[in-house]
Amino acid sequence: AKGMGQDRCMLFDEAMREQSLQSLELEADLRRAIINNDFLPFYQPIVSLADGSVVGHEALLRWQHEGRGLLLPGEFISLGEESGLIEQVDWLIYEQVVRDLAGTASGYVSVNVSPRHFRSSEFATRLFGLLDAAGADPGRLRVEITEMALLEDAPRTLRTLYQLRERGIVVQLDDFGTGYSALSYLHRFPISALKIDRSFVAGLHADNGKSTQALVEGVVSLARTLGIETIGEGVEDERQLRTLFEMGCNFGQGYLLGHPMPREVTLHKTE
Ligand code: C2E
Ligand code: CA
Ligand code: CA
Ligand code: CA
Repeated sequence: AKGMGQDRCMLFDEAMREQSLQSLELEADLRRAIINNDFLPFYQPIVSLADGSVVGHEALLRWQHEGRGLLLPGEFISLGEESGLIEQVDWLIYEQVVRDLAGTASGYVSVNVSPRHFRSSEFATRLFGLLDAAGADPGRLRVEITEMALLEDAPRTLRTLYQLRERGIVVQLDDFGTGYSALSYLHRFPISALKIDRSFVAGLHADNGKSTQALVEGVVSLARTLGIETIGEGVEDERQLRTLFEMGCNFGQGYLLGHPMPREVTLHKTE
């Protein structure tokens, strides 16, 4: 039995070693990809539930990896956050988004930002610089942050939020409901829109759907009272769409309404 335990231990070590080698390799790839700018935004439509019109798009990061094809954020974002490289990737995406904005007629584009990146002191000013250089309208850019971004260093976060608001950049609270003490954030921070996490949308008609419905309905009505827009994420079927609409949710996003697509496919439709 002792021998077997040792074997298992060795297998485990071997697996760990393999994993850390792989992440070292991926980190080296990521550095190279930043130099080559192998990243591009895919755009997913955000739709008005009242009339079905497309009001904007979310820019979602994709990595065109040399050997492995198109990679989703889930495959490299935590590595990017740990290594601090994600900030550079973010700016490469924002540059393309701002350029794409200038070339499209209407609607907003929202970009994602990692919590630590959002808290960096130059985030807002650098974003303004980018918009100014491209002659893009700040009113057409939105920034999506998660509750995690609000957890630490509230004074700095507040300052950034007010800077953005002053320039007309709307901030949307992403993945709403997955963090904690979420509702209290709504009046403590100047947030103009919130995105109801897709786990809640998926739960609307699941087994315990009634309690999820009550929860989402509560969030939507509180948001409306506070003048905050609501966007349902991960809308995959008609029933979810109708329920969200009946609850007073303003907008929807999800595979039912449109998949994330390259700019050539998505953005040109709104022109
Ligand atoms: P997120 O901001 O919550 O983005 C929504 C995710 O849900 C996207 O995954 C999108 O493709 C997916 N999605 C959209 N509709 C549906 C649906 O109906 N059903 C299901 N099951 N999924 C749907 P994606 O593109 O893989 O992005 C994952 C996460 O990576 C994003 O989650 C965001 O946190 C992060 N991310 C994306 N782009 C960027 C970026 O430019 N910078 C940073 N820092 N993070 C990014
Ligand atoms: Ca998002
Ligand atoms: Ca989200
Ligand atoms: Ca997310």
